[in-house]
Amino acid sequence: MSGSLRVAVAGAGLGGLCVAQGLLRAGVDVDVYERDAALHTRRQGYRLHIDSRAALALEKCLPPRLFRLFLATAGRPGSRVTVLSRRLRVLYETPVGPAGDPDDPATLSTSVDRGTLREILAGGLDGRIHWGHELAGYEQDPDGVTLRFTDGSTTRADVLVGADGVSSTVRRVLLPHAEQVDTGTRIIYGRTPLDDAARRLIPSALYDGFTAIAGGHVGLAAGLVEFRRQPVDAAAAIAPDVRLSPASDYLMWAVSAQRDRLPAVDGKLGEADAATLHAVACRAIRSWHPDLRALLGAAAVEETFFVRVRSSRRVPAWNPSRVTLLGDAIHAMSPARGSGANTALMDAAHLCDALTGGSDIVEAIGEYERRMRDYGFAAVDASLRAEAEAARRRNLLWLWVVDHLPKPRGTGRRMP
Ligand SMILES: Cc1cc2nc3c(=O)[nH]c(=O)nc-3n(C[C@H](O)[C@H](O)[C@H](O)COP(=O)(O)OP(=O)(O)OC[C@H]3O[C@@H](n4cnc5c(N)ncnc54)[C@H](O)[C@@H]3O)c2cc1C
Repeated sequence: MSGSLRVAVAGAGLGGLCVAQGLLRAGVDVDVYERDAALHTRRQGYRLHIDSRAALALEKCLPPRLFRLFLATAGRPGSRVTVLSRRLRVLYETPVGPAGDPDDPATLSTSVDRGTLREILAGGLDGRIHWGHELAGYEQDPDGVTLRFTDGSTTRADVLVGADGVSSTVRRVLLPHAEQVDTGTRIIYGRTPLDDAARRLIPSALYDGFTAIAGGHVGLAAGLVEFRRQPVDAAAAIAPDVRLSPASDYLMWAVSAQRDRLPAVDGKLGEADAATLHAVACRAIRSWHPDLRALLGAAAVEETFFVRVRSSRRVPAWNPSRVTLLGDAIHAMSPARGSGANTALMDAAHLCDALTGGSDIVEAIGEYERRMRDYGFAAVDASLRAEAEAARRRNLLWLWVVDHLPKPRGTGRRMP
């Protein structure tokens, strides 16, 4: 089946690029259609927590040299997660595990830079990613699918994969009844480059892993991205044909609160520019420890951005067809457990298996969708529960940290 199969993927995000890599590796003719003009047109976030779900999927889908490049540019695995007070007193700490081989995808738990990961995922797909192609809709017939783009052009494929993210066009046509809820959580994300001055301000706990600072109605989550190997050097040594942008170590921070708890009008934050968002984040922590204020103050201001957290409602089983979905397009979730990207990449690997397994295409897609609904919506529910419980306690970060821990190696310790 895979020899003559032609697959079109809408969306060159994490899931779409991963499924394209896996299909290409299996000999499938695949093309990716992305609305953005280029890879770095839009800011899509900085640090991602990656666990074994993503690592195993990447190992399956990527050519071996790109998988080695992914490992070489990942962060160092953290050894503990810590909750600090806004005065930097340790409230809680717990070791994280497993303390296995950092190159073993089955035990990997680390941070990666999203931009670097996306560049690796795009490696070797030159000519197969069609930038500036925004899908407007599609029509299915018994022989395949016709994709329509906003510029009026069309193309044909045997299968269409909707990997077009949280506002998916493919989902709106395939499952018009599918809904998403606004969870009420608002997050301002930023990035502080780690020069010597910034490093001196970093609380020591942060060098050991993810850290949350609990500030009552407002929380601050922070994590370092310290590349095991600088991306440009790693690419030169491992995959010289892949172009990775220069990147330096940084601190990712995220100020979060319920919509009425940030010192700004919710309706205006979505349209606010980066400088305004940065000012709102700094104001939200204005009474906190001076080092934290200085760290936010030293941010790359123009890179600050805002996220309204949305969560998909569970969709009952639908009849499979030649059009399917993966990642945020079907199961967008709160970031409270760091699961969205991990689940999207896992979908990509399962869908590759289905499309290259040799059975009837529509049956294979139906089997993929049956499994994906189970674990995908379970991840949505778990993320939503973590966020709701956090809101109940009026402290997002306790739950974010404690619930999102990958397989604790020991028992957490509350500090006196
Ligand atoms: C700030 C932030 C931090 C996060 N941290 C984590 C984390 O630590 N761990 C984790 O597991 N998850 C995390 N997530 C969630 C994770 O980023 C998403 O779940 C993941 O990116 C989903 O991948 P995807 O491929 O489904 O969608 P996306 O990565 O969003 O890609 C969708 C792509 O489709 C394109 N597109 C959209 N519409 C069209 C169209 N009509 N035609 C063509 N192209 C289109 C978009 O431009 C985009 O490139 C985080 C999310 C955010 C916002």
